Amino acid sequence: MTKIDLQREAAKAMEKAYSPYSHFKVGAAILTEAGNIYAGCNVENISYGLTICAERNAIVQAVAAEGPGMKLKEVVVTNHNEAGASDACSPCGACRQFMIEFSDKDTKVTYPGENGDIVTTANNLLPDSFRF
Ligand SMILES: [Zn+2]
Repeated sequence: MTKIDLQREAAKAMEKAYSPYSHFKVGAAILTEAGNIYAGCNVENISYGLTICAERNAIVQAVAAEGPGMKLKEVVVTNHNEAGASDACSPCGACRQFMIEFSDKDTKVTYPGENGDIVTTANNLLPDSFRF
């Protein structure tokens, strides 16, 4: 799998986003340690608080397919605003904690920054994550 595959899958999922409130479409694609790709989009809800982000959508699908041992190798996130352009937007705190649950120290995360994609790790995004 290549970064281009993940970008393409994230973009395909983004087009399916349900975002009638924010008009901000997000897509995420993940590569698991098992070598599979799963993609998700944001699904908003009129109550707002029940909205699920693209990253968590993709991870939930991966667990449903691979089971509780699923591990993330890489996560790629993309988005479009109402004008169809990409905005700098990092994963939210809930998604960071969700990614950490299935990550190791090398799990790569790519998302749109001010000057192109930012490539980092899940650990860098949430260095002191909640753990027992
Ligand atoms: Zn999120």
